[in-house]
Amino acid sequence: MPALIMYPGIMYGPVRSRRLGLSLGINLLPVGRKVCSFNCVYCECGDTTELLDQAYDEQGRRTTFPSVEAVRDAVTEALQTHLALDAITFAGHGEPTLHPRFPEVVQAVKEVRDHWQPQARVGVLSSAALIMRPRPRAGIDLCELRMMKLDAGDEETFQAIDRPADNIRLAPIIAELARMPNIIIQTCLIDGPVQNVRGAPWSALVQAVGVIRPQYVQLYAIDRPTPEPWVQKVSRETLHERASDMQARTGVPVEVYE
Ligand code: SF4
Repeated sequence: MPALIMYPGIMYGPVRSRRLGLSLGINLLPVGRKVCSFNCVYCECGDTTELLDQAYDEQGRRTTFPSVEAVRDAVTEALQTHLALDAITFAGHGEPTLHPRFPEVVQAVKEVRDHWQPQARVGVLSSAALIMRPRPRAGIDLCELRMMKLDAGDEETFQAIDRPADNIRLAPIIAELARMPNIIIQTCLIDGPVQNVRGAPWSALVQAVGVIRPQYVQLYAIDRPTPEPWVQKVSRETLHERASDMQARTGVPVEVYE
């Protein structure tokens, strides 16, 4: 298996995926530090260094995030190097919406995109933990592709798999996701002593998707080392079987992300 991921700078990729096409990645997190609202048991970036329930503000931040200008310069250079992109996606080694100026960063990237590669869509891959907070949400709403994590439909499984910061609860997240238009749900299915692939955890997850009614759901499995050694990979056959089951029970399109 490949090593854990930690990006050395702002830009990475581009990588090609079936859904996004050729996508350039933007990492807004500090170099060498994984800052996130979750500490998922399966996270390919390893253990969370700083577990936060709200974005850093300008005064209170203890960690150095890249400035809006630095992100603008990095994206400008990358868009002149990598041609014919389909997407530019905020993701990286942590939660991009924790950046203290996330809405301004998204706006700057969209301006650069409009100038150099107007065909590329600007997207965000988020834990969804901060969607009730104004600044993270404003940035998410500016993105044209909104991919939100949902690994559980019940609080106990959510706490056991995503291990969120202290004040983060699942029910308000599900309620808010249900109010957001045009979102994509991404779900990592795992097996082991804690699992979300069968029984009551799976039923609760299906029920939550039925409440949220996203554009579609992407189910995927781990393919890298995990911080917790007990996490078991779900087979390709099981992913496809669960995708069919969720789609049949909710009417929401469900794809297996390979
Ligand atoms: S939300 Fe993403 S970056 Fe954060 S711990 Fe989970 S998998 Fe890792």
